[in-house]
Amino acid sequence: MGLIVQKFGGTSVGSVEKIKNVANRVIEEAEKGNDVVVVVSAMGKTTDTLVSMANDICSSPSKREMDMLLTTGEQVTISLLTMALIEKGREAISFTGWQAGMQTESVHGNARILDIDASRIQAQLQANKIVIVAGFQGMDRQGEITTLGRGGSDTTAVAIAAALNANRCDIYTDVTGVFTTDPRYIQNARKLLSISYDEMLELAHLGAGVLHPRAVEYAKNYQIPLEVRSSLEKESGTIIEEEANMEENLIVRGIAFEDSITRVTVNGLPRSLSVLSTIFTTLAKNHINVDIIIQSMTAEETTNLSFSIKSEDTKAALLVLENNKSHLKFDCVETEGELAKVSIVGSGMVTNPGVAAEMFEVMANTGIQVKMVSTSEIKVSTVVNEKEMVKAVEALHEAFKLGQHAKVLA
Ligand code: ASP
Ligand code: MG
Repeated sequence: MGLIVQKFGGTSVGSVEKIKNVANRVIEEAEKGNDVVVVVSAMGKTTDTLVSMANDICSSPSKREMDMLLTTGEQVTISLLTMALIEKGREAISFTGWQAGMQTESVHGNARILDIDASRIQAQLQANKIVIVAGFQGMDRQGEITTLGRGGSDTTAVAIAAALNANRCDIYTDVTGVFTTDPRYIQNARKLLSISYDEMLELAHLGAGVLHPRAVEYAKNYQIPLEVRSSLEKESGTIIEEEANMEENLIVRGIAFEDSITRVTVNGLPRSLSVLSTIFTTLAKNHINVDIIIQSMTAEETTNLSFSIKSEDTKAALLVLENNKSHLKFDCVETEGELAKVSIVGSGMVTNPGVAAEMFEVMANTGIQVKMVSTSEIKVSTVVNEKEMVKAVEALHEAFKLGQHAKVLA
């Protein structure tokens, strides 16, 4: 007998019918003899609807009141699911985040968990109850309600699994697992049997929406195995663990991509030691998130600097640069929009040189121009024309044999 934490996302609890279905999945797990703690999100698009209601009242609502508002979404789900379980003859009890002992830092809208006092959950498990906890919410030391950032219910689930020393944390969602790439774009994208924490962390940061990056970080720190799986279908999902299964002996495990990227180039910056720090501090102070950075020296003793940002931030970035032109002392700024980022991720890159080279060769053979590059130990990202994004992903998916089942290693 073990302890399992199950998390059901918004689409899995999107209607009363779906909540009844979730109740069945919970009971199935309990009937195997396991203690079960369930973490749920708000129903369907509830959180989005609440956000837009607030925006209809004011353009920048109070962050405290925003947390007060958004945490109601999860509370609807915990009570309905608990009622569904009781109706099916099971003993169950719901807890808000703060009743479940989730203590966070004092930050509204994006708080980190500081501590979990799991004693109330434990007492209820001991009394043979299924415990249902509201995701995405907690309370700071002053008793103020906080939220963990959009998508934060995953983090609640993993944190509770860590606090209770659970055997497993299952993340139930509307897809059957983690795929080699987005199956909505690439037909022969394949579900992975397993993936490592580090690979999943890269993919989550690169925009694979299936898991909240902070949840993966937590799972890695506490070595909690995660399984991402479907709430509707019974097939097993993708296991996320320290050492992913080498059954798929592949150097590249997945391909992530993201459109609406803009490259900003600042020409003719003075060549001084502080130029980089000055320019990026200025951008950061204005909340502009910079991704890939390329610096090049010119023959004229000046420096040109290119960086990529989300296209929606372009106007703000240009304004910041223009307003600071007198102390940044550059000549001119150019931008190129309608770009996309295509990245390959895989732990095997650490020990296999030449993966980046192979990626560039594939791009060249496909006639795709690479405009920017950045690498980490287990990732290579390239910036290409948005129009060529899907073509690039298709070619890489094919070249790195992600669509086929590789042979099992002896
Ligand atoms: N309901 C919250 C959101 O939509 C948290 C979550 O679902 O994880 O972001
Ligand atoms: Mg989510």
